[in-house]
Amino acid sequence: MKWMKKAFSMMVLLVFAFALVACGEDAGKGNESGNNKNSSNGQENKKIKIALSVTDLSLERWQHDRDIFIDKAKELGADVIVQSADNDETKQLTQIQNMLSQGIDVLVIIPVNSDSLSPVVDQAKQEGVKVLAYDRLITNCDVDAYVSFDNVRVGELQAEYLVKKVPKGNYFLMGGSPTDNNAKLFREGQMNVLQTFIDKGDIKIVGDQWVKLWDANEAMKIMENALTANNNKIDAVVASNDSTAGGAIQALAAQGLAGKVAISGQDADLAAVQRIAEGTQTMTVYKPIHKIAATAAEIAVKLGKGEKIETDDTINNGKMDVPYVKLEPIMVDKDNLIDTVIKDGFHSYDDVYKNVPEDQRPPRP
Ligand code: BGC
Repeated sequence: MKWMKKAFSMMVLLVFAFALVACGEDAGKGNESGNNKNSSNGQENKKIKIALSVTDLSLERWQHDRDIFIDKAKELGADVIVQSADNDETKQLTQIQNMLSQGIDVLVIIPVNSDSLSPVVDQAKQEGVKVLAYDRLITNCDVDAYVSFDNVRVGELQAEYLVKKVPKGNYFLMGGSPTDNNAKLFREGQMNVLQTFIDKGDIKIVGDQWVKLWDANEAMKIMENALTANNNKIDAVVASNDSTAGGAIQALAAQGLAGKVAISGQDADLAAVQRIAEGTQTMTVYKPIHKIAATAAEIAVKLGKGEKIETDDTINNGKMDVPYVKLEPIMVDKDNLIDTVIKDGFHSYDDVYKNVPEDQRPPRP
């Protein structure tokens, strides 16, 4: 009987031990999923860490984007690290790899080259980091969202304004950086408007060049050569942004043509709106930076929390239809400076009219 008791208690012990091991395993698994849960729960409470990779912080426009983005993201409780690639696509790749090693949740990229980032975006995706393309699309890879303006519309606004002012004549096309997907979209919009005028024979395209990295000096040289090649007979310049317009206007000024040749722009940079007030630049396209930057910060935080992004539009990047938040650009000329950039607080009245004699300024709002 004694042996039976012993065997029984052995069995109980064994069952107990087995149960403990099984429990232990379960507890282990439970912990794992508990950790996952914790991390997903944690994701709701945890500080989201965002990395912002900017194409080039020396350009006025991107400084505004950075400042507003950081403020909004901080307001939403996130941390932001920022790096400027100084317009160098290889540097941008290295910087992004470095930021990925810092345990970030979301990567927000303004690419130098829209086509060259798939290796680091793929790496980010493998590491569970969300990717948001900011202002410029990133092509041929998995991107979680894209926030930008209607870039084709930007090009249309530029050309619509010029053809109203100069319905017939010699046009010079000054495209943006050939590696920036936006530059192609601006051109698409410009041609949507110009093509019928070209077909009618009213507008003649006397030159068409793309400005590497949107560089103002390069734009100036291109304009100098175009003026020489055409004996200064150019009536309008379709410049795709304000930095290239600025370079072109310097070349026009050297020939006494600033203010005589119609020229477009984009960004409502301070120097550009000052030129508009003075009459040497014809128009610009204002893209409210507070909208794109704040929207991008909101989306980045949502992505970091694992929330779903709902958008009205999508854009195909060669690999997939990317959810696209599309914002409206605004045409700005001499007549609506006050109602647009000044009213919005983007620039002050005093700054915009700094170079205009007091008696020639419009009434202060
Ligand atoms: C932006 C423009 C900017 C240009 C140069 C484009 O991708 O959309 O606003 O002027 O890059 O940085």
